[in-house]
Amino acid sequence: MNAPVNKGENKVEHKEEKIRKIKNGTVIDHIEGGKAFSVLKILNIDENYESIVSVVINAESETYGKKDIVKIEGRTLTKDETNKISLLSARATVNVIADSKVTEKYKVEVPYEINNLLKCPNPECITNSELENIETKMFRFSKKPLKFRCHYCERVFSELEFK
Ligand SMILES: [Zn+2]
Repeated sequence: MNAPVNKGENKVEHKEEKIRKIKNGTVIDHIEGGKAFSVLKILNIDENYESIVSVVINAESETYGKKDIVKIEGRTLTKDETNKISLLSARATVNVIADSKVTEKYKVEVPYEINNLLKCPNPECITNSELENIETKMFRFSKKPLKFRCHYCERVFSELEFK
């Protein structure tokens, strides 16, 4: 029989140990609670990915209350890939891990050009025509407040939906 364990003990110490540490890969931290699966989707990572992907949903965060964490083993994501995450969660941070050490840490940034990811809200826009098959192209128009300009109809929008 095991000795009874005091469950309150070591609580803080174990907070960051809920999922395995990774040796090489990318950790995306401070994702808004509940957005982890959307983050994987935007990165095109699914069950066909060749290595381990760990997802933590609604972890405690001292700064934000709740956060999600995604750990992708065996792959260093490029900034072009990780910056797309800013469209889901602007506060996300990226940690690049090599040999079990954090070699780079940065905050995601809204990309200048976003291709085929966001829908143009203008119903007259050619990208919304069912006859044409044109991928959307949005440019970051301003950072604060965040606005985008459609390459095709040239209108400026602040709220955009994913395709
Ligand atoms: Zn448009």
